[in-house]
Amino acid sequence: MNEVKRPKKSLFFYYGIVLLLLLLFNFLAMPWLAQRQVHEVDYGTFLQMAADKKLDQVEVQQEENQIVFTDTDGKAYKTGMMPDPNLTQTLADSGASFEGEIIQQTDPLLLFLLTWVLPIVIFILIERYITKKVMQNAGGPNAMMFGMGKSNAKVYVKSSEGIRFSDVAGEDEAKENLSEIVDYLHNPQKYREIGASMPKGILLVGPPGTGKTMLAKAVAGESQVPFFSMSGSEFVEMFVGMGASKVRDLFKQAKEKAPCIVFIDEIDAIGQKRDGRLGGNDEREQTLNQLLTEMDGFEENTGVIILAATNRPESLDPALTRPGRFDRRVPVELPDLKGREEILKVHAKKVKMDPSVDFSKIARMASGASGAELANIINEAALRAVRDNRSAVTQSDLEESIEVVIAGYQKKNAILTDEEKKVVAYHETGHALVAALQSHSAPVQKITIVPRTSGALGYTMQVDEGNHYLMSKEELENKIATLTGGRAAEELVFHSASTGASNDIEQATKLARAMITRYGMSKDFDMVALETVQNQYLGGDTSLACSAEMQAEIDQQVIALIKQQHEKAAKILEENREKLDELAKYLYEKETITGEEFMSILNAK
Ligand code: ADP
Repeated sequence: MNEVKRPKKSLFFYYGIVLLLLLLFNFLAMPWLAQRQVHEVDYGTFLQMAADKKLDQVEVQQEENQIVFTDTDGKAYKTGMMPDPNLTQTLADSGASFEGEIIQQTDPLLLFLLTWVLPIVIFILIERYITKKVMQNAGGPNAMMFGMGKSNAKVYVKSSEGIRFSDVAGEDEAKENLSEIVDYLHNPQKYREIGASMPKGILLVGPPGTGKTMLAKAVAGESQVPFFSMSGSEFVEMFVGMGASKVRDLFKQAKEKAPCIVFIDEIDAIGQKRDGRLGGNDEREQTLNQLLTEMDGFEENTGVIILAATNRPESLDPALTRPGRFDRRVPVELPDLKGREEILKVHAKKVKMDPSVDFSKIARMASGASGAELANIINEAALRAVRDNRSAVTQSDLEESIEVVIAGYQKKNAILTDEEKKVVAYHETGHALVAALQSHSAPVQKITIVPRTSGALGYTMQVDEGNHYLMSKEELENKIATLTGGRAAEELVFHSASTGASNDIEQATKLARAMITRYGMSKDFDMVALETVQNQYLGGDTSLACSAEMQAEIDQQVIALIKQQHEKAAKILEENREKLDELAKYLYEKETITGEEFMSILNAK
C-alpha cells in the first residue's frame, strides 16, 4: 500500500535557526557595538588629550552634562562637564572639530535591548508561529506544542496494490470473520436497513508472527479504505496526558476519514488491567481511559472500525473487552499443516523455486512454526542458494534452513574429541531407537551429530505424518521415554552420564508436569487443575494453584513418571543393544543419516 506519512517538521530545526541567528548577531554586531563603546575618562585626561592634540571630534552635551569625544584613532570617550570658561578656547587650540558628525553614543539601554530583548522577542515570535502551525495541523487546542500530543499514526491510503486476503495464507476462520467487516465497509446501507450494527472493535489475538498485522492490512486492502496504523507503545509518552491527547487526535482524524480502519498493534501496552497496584503507570491509565471514552463516544455505524492485535489477551482490562468496545475476538492461531503449506507457497512465489520442491514435506517438518518463521525459512533457503551459486532454491536448501531455524547454523570448526563424538552418536541413536521401537511415536526423519551454533551437539528430528491435535496419555509417555533415550544409551554403553542431556531433561520434566497438573493424567489427582497457564501465546508459563503439600506430592509423581519412562527406555535399548551399536557406529561415520537409512538398518535382519 502507499504509505503516506505526514512530513514531520523537526522543531529542533526551528530552534536551531533561532540559535544560529543569536550567535550570528553576537558575532557580527557585538564587535561593532564594542567599537562604539564609550570609554569614560576624567576631565584631566580630556584636557591632556586636548593639549596633546589628540582630539578629533568633540560634542558638548549640555543637557546630559557631559562631553563626548573621539580621539584621532576613532575611539569614543566621554567625561563629565566641569565649569570651564576656557573650554571653547581649549578645543579650538587642540584643533579638534566641533562640527561634523555627531558622535553616536550607544546607549546602554539600546545595547541591552539589542543584545538581549530583541533575540528573545524573535524567539517568542517564532515559537508562537510554530505553535499555531502545530495546532492547525492537529486541529484544535487539545493538541500539544511540538507535536507531542499528536498521533503520528501512519496512514495507508487505499491502493490497488494493497495486501489482500489472498496474501494471507491459511487462517481461513479469521479471514471469514473479517470478510464481514469488508462487506460492511463496502455496503453499510445493507446493515443499516435491517438495524444491525457492526462491532466497533475487533481484537485479533494469537501468538507472535501469525499474521495479525497482515490481516488488519488485508481488511483495509480489501475494503479499499484508509488504514491508520499505530502501535500501543507509541501512545505512551514521557509526559502524563500526552497519550490521551494522541488517542483523541487519532480518533478525530479517523472520523474525518470515515469509512476507515484504525489498527492498534500490541494493544496490551496501553490496555493492561488497571489493578490499582502501587506504582501504577498514570500515563498508561489515562491513555486507556481516553481510549475507552473515545470508543463509547462515536456512534455505531459511523464507518470507523477499530482493529487491535495482542498476544496477551488475558492481561487486557475487562472494560476494554466488554460489548460495545472490543466485543469481537478473532483468534489467529499457529497454522496447521495445510496452513503451513499454503504460507510456504505464498512466500515461495517471491523466490525462484526448483519445481521438485515438496512443500508438504517441508510443512510437516516445520511443525509448530508460525507464519513469520515460515517466511524466514523460505528466505534462509534463498540465501543459502545464493551462497552456493545456484539459480533456484532446492528441497535441501529448505530442509537445511528449517534446521537453521530450529538449531542454528552448522558449526564448521567445532572441535569434538573422538570420545565425545562417540557419546553424541550413541545419545542420538538412543533417542531414535527408543522412538522407533515404540508405537505411537512420530517417525524419525533425520539424525545428525553435526554441532550447531545453538549449542546442540546433535539432534534427532521426528516428523509427524499429518496434523496432530490431540495427544493421548500413551503418546505423551512415549515422548518422555524418547527424551530419556539419549541418556539411557549413554548409561548403557559408557556407564556414566554427560551434560548433553540437559535439554532433554528440561523437556521431559515440562511434559511430565503438564500431564499431572494440567491434563489430569494422574490417577490420584483426577481432573483437578493444579496449575494454570498464564499467557498461552507467549511461552505458556504456568503458576501453581494448589497447597504446599500438594506441590510436594506433584514433585513426587513427576519424578516417578520420568523414572518409569527412563527405565522403559533403558530396557528397550538393552534388548536392542546390537542395533544400537550398529546404528551408532554408522552415525559416527556418516555424521548425518536420513530416516530411511535408519529404518533400513533397523529392519535388516
Ligand atoms: P503478527 O502481527 O501476528 O505478529 P505479522 O502480521 O506482522 O504478525 O506477520 C509477520 C510476517 O510473517 C508477515 O510479514 C508475513 O511475511 C509472515 N506471515 C505471518 N502469517 C502469515 C500468513 N498467514 N500468510 C502469509 N504470511 C504470513
